[in-house]
Amino acid sequence: PTMAHSKALLVLENFIGGKFVPCSSYIDSYNPSTGDVYCKVPDSGKEEVEAAVKAAKDAFPIWSSKSPLERSQILNKLADLIEHDLEAFAQAESKDQGKTITFARTVDIPRAVHNFRFFASSILHHVTECTEMPAMGCVHYTSRAPVGVAGLISPWNLPLYLLTWKIAPAIACGNTVVAKPSEMTSVTAWMMCKLLEKAGVPPGVVNVVFGTGAKAGEALVCHPDVPLISFTGSTLTAQRITEKSAPHCKRLSLELGGKNPAIIFDDADLSQCIPTTVRSSFANQGEICLCTSRIFVQRGIYSEFLKRFVAEAKKWKTGNPSDPTISVGALISKEHLEKVRNYVKKAQAEGARVLCGEGVDPLALPPGNQKGYFMLPTVIAEVKDESCCMQEEIFGPVTCVVAFDTEEEVIQRANGVKYGLAATVWSSNVGRVHRVAHRLQSGLVWTNCWLVRDLNLPFGGMKASGIGREGAKDSYEFFTEIKTITIKH
Ligand code: NAD
Repeated sequence: PTMAHSKALLVLENFIGGKFVPCSSYIDSYNPSTGDVYCKVPDSGKEEVEAAVKAAKDAFPIWSSKSPLERSQILNKLADLIEHDLEAFAQAESKDQGKTITFARTVDIPRAVHNFRFFASSILHHVTECTEMPAMGCVHYTSRAPVGVAGLISPWNLPLYLLTWKIAPAIACGNTVVAKPSEMTSVTAWMMCKLLEKAGVPPGVVNVVFGTGAKAGEALVCHPDVPLISFTGSTLTAQRITEKSAPHCKRLSLELGGKNPAIIFDDADLSQCIPTTVRSSFANQGEICLCTSRIFVQRGIYSEFLKRFVAEAKKWKTGNPSDPTISVGALISKEHLEKVRNYVKKAQAEGARVLCGEGVDPLALPPGNQKGYFMLPTVIAEVKDESCCMQEEIFGPVTCVVAFDTEEEVIQRANGVKYGLAATVWSSNVGRVHRVAHRLQSGLVWTNCWLVRDLNLPFGGMKASGIGREGAKDSYEFFTEIKTITIKH
């Protein structure tokens, strides 16, 4: 690149031991809405990870001996600082990821702020157990202590949101961390590092190493001094992480992919169900692990549902993510866009009907966005259950709608995939809602709503969607080591 060109690029640095450190090589990072390289991300490897783990180990004794209240005050301060810069963070997240500015403003960054506030509060309220054995003259109690250096690896779809969902509980519990955000969306993590000192986070408590999964991620997973890894990403990567960490017997939390069903019975309130199911299918370009991608509609209302659903989906405008009237931004990368488009082509080749979106409707983009990675919300009907579009995670703005007849049948079909992350059930029959919710193989079941979360309660998936849960109590248990102590008097 010319001098003028390279000057315009944003160049990130690793954050190790409280200092920004340049790296010897860099990766290009693209603006998904224009297709331009706009940022250079450190291409870290073993050496950088080694330095970060050392800084985290050195910071552990002091940080872990602080009281929960002291740590809580620091987390609250960090939340305030991010909130103060909310607009700058939202702009950066939208530019880096392709998501709409509206989504970044109302979901990503407010949730990152909330993650710190939530764990700043919840860390103050844990109690441990105590039992007595009078005949033996003994009392037993449990105590919990932070584990050490936590390795945190996060994906590109909700960058700061998911990274802080790990950093906040890890440091609230007294661990120190080495975090590795996705190489495709590293900017907001780097911005957060600039606020740590001001918030009072001591050097070495939070270290961020940027780079690819194969180099930086694997170095972290293989490091002998990192006893636990919290990972959010794809099932394939989780398999690799499990293999690589096995020789060290590491503690793993794995939050993985989904193929989430929506089950819509004929007594559902369609005026609520349709806009919510359009949102659950296409929010954040369908790039949320919790997005709906298989919609089962009871036969009596199937054609009415399809007509109204497609009309509603067509209201979602695709275009420049920084335009607040836009609902669908750009997909993360050119490769990912191609992958998502290919699913639509495969469905067509199998005889399914594409009712709107990709290949059916024209996509008009502003001049500045012609090279961006855009795609219209796409609805496919008459897809066979065994089709790859009904079995594999697409992770884009594509949803499949099929008909069903009975409750028993739909439960079997909804469970007929390798994943088990989230499901939605729409019905006004309370008994049915309970029956179906109990039988779905899914870590989360939402009935007559979607994405309503109480962070106190467990979050995570069954089957290929993950191992372990995250939430107030669950994250506390994951990020601490428990001990049973017996006292004879
Ligand atoms: P990914 O698995 O490709 O990457 C996730 C992270 O892992 C990135 O930081 C990446 O650099 C790193 N990584 C890749 N290979 C690695 C390796 N060998 N060792 C260590 N780290 C490695 O996933 P992605 O494409 O970034 O994200 C999309 C996926 O994440 C989807 O499958 C989605 O469903 C899933 N996801 C799950 C949840 C959840 O909470 N269950 C939330 C969001 C996204």
